[in-house]
Formats: sequence, structure tokens, C-alpha cells
Amino acid sequence: MADRTNSGARHLNEQTALFELQEQIAAATTEPDKETWQRLLNNAQGLHQAAIASGDEESANLGWFLAEATSCWGGYISVFKDLQHGLYYKAWCEMERIEISLMNIKNNVSGDYDKLGLSFLNSQTQAFQVLFPYTVFFSPEIIVGYELCSICRTRINPWRSCGHEIGRIYGGRLCCRLAHDIELVSISIVRKPVQKYSVGFSKDDDGNTIDQHDYATVKFVIDRLNSPLDQFSAEWIKAYHPHELFAHVSERDACPCESGIAYGECCRERPGVIRPHLQVLFEKEPPADLPTVQLAGYDGYGRVGGKLQF
Ligand SMILES: [Zn+2]
Ligand SMILES: [Zn+2]
Repeated sequence: MADRTNSGARHLNEQTALFELQEQIAAATTEPDKETWQRLLNNAQGLHQAAIASGDEESANLGWFLAEATSCWGGYISVFKDLQHGLYYKAWCEMERIEISLMNIKNNVSGDYDKLGLSFLNSQTQAFQVLFPYTVFFSPEIIVGYELCSICRTRINPWRSCGHEIGRIYGGRLCCRLAHDIELVSISIVRKPVQKYSVGFSKDDDGNTIDQHDYATVKFVIDRLNSPLDQFSAEWIKAYHPHELFAHVSERDACPCESGIAYGECCRERPGVIRPHLQVLFEKEPPADLPTVQLAGYDGYGRVGGKLQF
């Protein structure tokens, strides 16, 4: 009896600590400070592990939620800093981690999803991803020998399931499959990858990886945001680009809109050449000394490759 009372009291203490932490996390969502988020993450992970160890399912699951949400916030704050410092690919990989984590949260605690400002994180990371120039990715094809359930370690096959669902939380732990005896069959080049981090980079003559991407669109936005909490949206649309930019293209050449038709029979008769155009809306007005419009991909003589600002 005495033992049961003690463990009941311990579970109650655990729950109280978790609810207090939840309040602190909610308060910190107006605080873009990296150290605050690191401290909250340490607390959340500590309480999560303690709750798993004590075996209280409800506390363990709440601990998981708080640790995930906190790591998403901390990750997002560092994404913002990395983008300011030009560490684009690093920020890209972290955003993919945040995206997966937010999806796992949504699948498990849909009712609490927005309690800790997670819809904001979701829309901001999506808006940043839209700005990235990555178009080509690698996708490995692998043969898996066998898989174990991460929760109960049962060997999974098409005829036998342990009942644990991938992506769901059991006792504070996320269910996934542990793949064994993996064989890599091939690597494909794809446009829509399963893993977004598998970006294609070039190599120089000495075999060093070089980043050949033009991050003008990412830089345009990050330079105009003051804080990670400043909201923006971004959308690729089509817009007329002035004919002056294509002065070197003759009427008989292929139209720069890439329709495959001659310039003279396509956009030449229109108010401009129809080209992709990134439209960004800022919640707060950007600094007045920065231009509000930027052309990327042209030089001053209308040739593709340089940049022109006005
Ligand atoms: Zn299982
Ligand atoms: Zn055209």
C-alpha cells in the first residue's frame, strides 16, 4: 500500500512539473532568445526521461510533446540565426527536422497542437522552404532485410503486426521501424524527395563539394526580418518581366518564358516576358533603406546570370 501511495504522489509531482513547464514554454514563445530555449529543452528532456522511467503513460506522453515542441522552437531560432549568417544548407536540414517533428506532434496530440505556437512555426518554416533554390535531390533505393518495431522489438513482416502504429506515441516513445540488413540498390535523381536533406551539390576539380546554388531569394527575405517572430508569407507566381532585360534575344529565338515558341510569336506582343516571380508579404514593414524589389538572375545588360537591383 505504502509503495502505491508513494508512486501516486510521485506521478502527481511529475505531472505538476510538466504542467508548469508547459506554462513556461507558452510564455517563451514571445521570447526569441536562444539560451532560454536551450534551458527549456534541457528541462523538457529531463522530465520526459523521468516520466518514461516512472512508467506513467500520460506524463510520459506529455513529456514527449513538450520536449518535441521545445526542440522545434529552439531549432527554429537557430534556423533564423543560421540564415542571417548565410548557413543556408544547415538551416534547410534543420527545417526538415522541424517539419517531421511537427507532423509527429500533429498525429499524436492534435488537440494541443496550437497551444505552444506550433502553427506559427509550421507556416514560417514552410515559407522559408519556398525561398530555397533546391530543385534536384538524390533518392536512395534500398532493400531492407527485416524490420523491428521500435516499441516492442517484434520482427515485422507483411503477415504479422504487433499492433503498434508507426508515428504514434506509446509510453512517451515514438513508434518507428528499425531496419536491419540494409542493401543499397540505386540512387535516383528526383524533384520531390522523401528526404529533403539529400540536395545535389557540385564538386570542384579537386573533388571538394561546392554550393552552386543562388540564395538571393532567401537573403532578400532574411535581410528584411528583424526577429524570428516577424511573420511573412512567400509564394511563387508568374509576372511580366520588362522586355529591356531580353534585348539580346531576337524575335526568332526561343521565348525567354520557356514556352518553346519564338519570342516574336509569344511574349514579345505582351507587356513583358512571363517569368517566375516570388511574391513576399511581410507582417512588419522592412527597413526603409532596403529596396522593395529585386531582380535575380539577370545582369544590367539583360543577360541571365547576374543580379540587378532597383
Ligand atoms: Zn510493436
Ligand atoms: Zn513567352
